[in-house]
Amino acid sequence: MTHTLAALENASEFTARHIGPWADDEARMLSVIGAASREALISTIVPESIRRPEAMRLPAAVSEAQALAELRGIAQQNQVLKSFIGQGYHGTHTPGVILRNILENPAWYTAYTPYQAEISQGRMEALVNFQTMVTDLTGMAMANASMLDEATAAAEAMTLAKRSVKSKSQVILVSADCHPQTIEVVRTRAEPLGLSVVVGELQQLVAEHDCFAVLAQYPASTGHIPDLRALTDAVHAKQAAVIVAADLLALTLLTPPGEWGADIVLGNTQRFGVPMGAGGPHAAYLACKDEFKRSLPGRLVGVSVDAHGNPAYRLALQTREQHIRREKATSNICTAQVLLAVMASMYAVYHGPTGLTRIARRVASFTAVLAEGLARLGHEVLNTTAFDTLSIRTGARTDEIAARAVASGANLRRVSDTVLGVTLDETTTRADLADLLLWFSTEGQTVPEVSEWEAGVALRLPEGLQRQSGFLSHPVFNSHHSETEMLRYIRKLSDKDLALDRTMIPLGSCTMKLNATSEMLPITWPEFAHLHPFAPAEQLAGYQLLNDQLTAWLCQATGYAGISLQPNAGSQGEYAGLLAIRGWHLSRGDEQRTICLIPESAHGTNPASAQMVGMQVVVVKCDAGGNVDLDDLRAKCEQHTDKLAAVMITYPSTFGVFEPRVKELCALVHQHGGRVYVDGANMNALVGVAAPGEFGGDVSHLNLHKTFCIPHGGGGPGVGPVCVVEDLVPFLPGHATAGQVRAGGVGAVSAAPLGNAAVLPISWMYVRMMGAEGLKAATEVAILSANYVAARLADHYDIHYSGGKAGIKGGGVAHECILDLRPLKEASGIGAEDVAKRLIDYGFHAPTLSFPVAGTLMVEPTESEPLAELDRFCDAMIAIREEIRQVENGVWPREDNPLKNAPHTAESLLSSDWAHAYSREQAAYPLPALRRNKYWSPVGRVDNVYGDRNLFCSCLPISELAD
Ligand SMILES: *Cc1c(COP(=O)(O)O)cnc(C)c1O
Repeated sequence: MTHTLAALENASEFTARHIGPWADDEARMLSVIGAASREALISTIVPESIRRPEAMRLPAAVSEAQALAELRGIAQQNQVLKSFIGQGYHGTHTPGVILRNILENPAWYTAYTPYQAEISQGRMEALVNFQTMVTDLTGMAMANASMLDEATAAAEAMTLAKRSVKSKSQVILVSADCHPQTIEVVRTRAEPLGLSVVVGELQQLVAEHDCFAVLAQYPASTGHIPDLRALTDAVHAKQAAVIVAADLLALTLLTPPGEWGADIVLGNTQRFGVPMGAGGPHAAYLACKDEFKRSLPGRLVGVSVDAHGNPAYRLALQTREQHIRREKATSNICTAQVLLAVMASMYAVYHGPTGLTRIARRVASFTAVLAEGLARLGHEVLNTTAFDTLSIRTGARTDEIAARAVASGANLRRVSDTVLGVTLDETTTRADLADLLLWFSTEGQTVPEVSEWEAGVALRLPEGLQRQSGFLSHPVFNSHHSETEMLRYIRKLSDKDLALDRTMIPLGSCTMKLNATSEMLPITWPEFAHLHPFAPAEQLAGYQLLNDQLTAWLCQATGYAGISLQPNAGSQGEYAGLLAIRGWHLSRGDEQRTICLIPESAHGTNPASAQMVGMQVVVVKCDAGGNVDLDDLRAKCEQHTDKLAAVMITYPSTFGVFEPRVKELCALVHQHGGRVYVDGANMNALVGVAAPGEFGGDVSHLNLHKTFCIPHGGGGPGVGPVCVVEDLVPFLPGHATAGQVRAGGVGAVSAAPLGNAAVLPISWMYVRMMGAEGLKAATEVAILSANYVAARLADHYDIHYSGGKAGIKGGGVAHECILDLRPLKEASGIGAEDVAKRLIDYGFHAPTLSFPVAGTLMVEPTESEPLAELDRFCDAMIAIREEIRQVENGVWPREDNPLKNAPHTAESLLSSDWAHAYSREQAAYPLPALRRNKYWSPVGRVDNVYGDRNLFCSCLPISELAD
């Protein structure tokens, strides 16, 4: 065989590494399905009317090495300066043991959200540590397991307060000394809900206004540490809530808000070992007093018991959440920031209370020493109290001093034309202090040496607000301080969990595909990791280029005209997309257009997001085939024709069906003056084959953490780009704090202009290494693999809502298939949950349980799973079907069989009294291969009801751990 040099040089083999089945596997898969070729299968499955006429225009695929080299060039256009900007983002030392064994470890980053409690005990323990860390430091009763960022956490705190207080006021009073991005996002979120935000000096505002809540920052954004005790009493007298955005590191030294009566406390945990990453991802936190806990937004991990009476973790109070409560949910949050919450909690485990206090005292001492030095230079420091931040009146010298700092490799915060801010952190050194004093000195002035006064300097913490109470006294924060122990603790937890590094995770709608290592490598490059989101724009030039290229490529993939990468989860993309639709209607004077039609099969985030933009949800029926019932849609369009704002559909539908009449549906909604929102979570069935922007969609969000390879991280981070057609581009989110304003006037939806910027290189790498052909092949193989699974299981299970395609075994599905277990329930008592738990004994993470149809399992294999793994899964499902038959036939009792008792722990199997109707071998090794490769569930089946009745969301008491 001969090759040209050019062909050899440019060969990209990445596509073959990303896609699981080999070329010869395809022939076998096709023959099981009954399709002649991949092309034939795709044209049977995907309606001709929506097929894209031409290929995506993307740069030709390159190899891993070439893509990394190209991305390195982009990264190098970023300039990494030392940051003294503060404003919620700080330098931090990520302990090496956490960097390598969590952030860079697929056992942690490829895990899914812990809905299946038994295989998620490790990450839930880490999240309970996070919740305990937050409640201890803030002095609050209850904290959730992470929020998307500090600004959205403040917005969620606002609506939590609104739901919970007696005051009927529609006004929230916000301190002007909150971080500006927080104020901006709170304004964005308040406006569609009819809430007014009044910003100013709190003392005065509280005296003059009625309100339902007050939002303060502690310490304040520009450094001062306010004493909010009297104010809190005044706010409570109005039956309103006190919300405090607080810095956790400062709270090691300051009286926590919970001790002086705050109702809700929120903030960021970025400085606990998570790089700034130009704004994200990192975990924000939200804590509240006991009375508010059942109304708390976001995921919450609680302690319950398993079938053997042992303590076990699981997600608590899920009935608050969007997937159950829909438009009445406490928020639309689905994907949060689990990986980063785990990192921050491990930082607290690693340093313990003593270490954290030492870090905080060091920062506070450096700050006090710097303040004295600045005073000696003749500067006026505006804040008399300080933890880490000083505001310095620099008058006419503002530009000159800021420029000197930049020239020496550092950024200061420009608070105003006459005031500069300096924020110190864990990474600040003595040399930094000398530099800072030099930059603030004038020509010829002698720069004083800090050694002259450092000994006698007192911290600038207010007298009455110094922390007296202890915190983090639990053993977990006091036992893992040697690196050996820390390493083993991290390993012990990850060993309890099933992630993609051990098994396929066939979760329908979640697209758990390969997160290639070369995609992950760049995220910790300093040029991406160590940038402040509000550094001068020219220092972020690499990120700008990354943004420009990635949005152009995603426009190609979706057929849309404009994209914003700001939303930091799919739910936030939905919110931003609906804001765009709302903004467009308002710009045309159509204030009455507030009805949002949503099919009953929609993901819970859809109705929850619609509610957040002030729309009223009207549910549209689905027909027997799982399609939107067009007659019902037509009737509802007609009924609401003057008020119709939008329809939100998912395509292919959440049932995994390509609705042939989707164009008609879009046209109908357009006729009635509404806009079409296409939820893009199922884009893995479309990329390169069909584009929502071409078949009638006006807006979509993507989930880069599904289709575009960002790992799920155990429940975040995500990126949810919002994509729109031409006339909606002006209504994409802006970011005034970062100097980005759009014509439509929609404000920021995330704290940082590029949202979870630091994980964008992952999707960039994926597209760059796949190219147009590779991406299209991925879509086709995803469809092929789902149809293969459907075909193999069709003789054993009912395939729900299959396309009924003649000659295609399994009937023809899109990229996922629903197995209907309801018919088996009657005959055997075995339900979908029992099958999900039994799969754990077979070494699998369950498919999506009871969504979009109760009593079903939805399987999405993705293109990345090799045929051998698809077969291992099908073999397990078929073996489980035979087990169900044993129950149907009365061989095993309905209440005592391997399904009802799953998962089986080693402990329960090794117990000397085994009184079940089936053998231990049947329980543990139902298939021979399991003898050689076995995952042991660390706990038996977890009791959800017990946990919600006995709500407990902190580290287990020592007495429980003892035995
Ligand atoms: C995952 C998903 C969402 C929500 O995305 P998050 O990133 O988890 O907020 C919305 N719709 C559908 C159909 C989904 O599968």
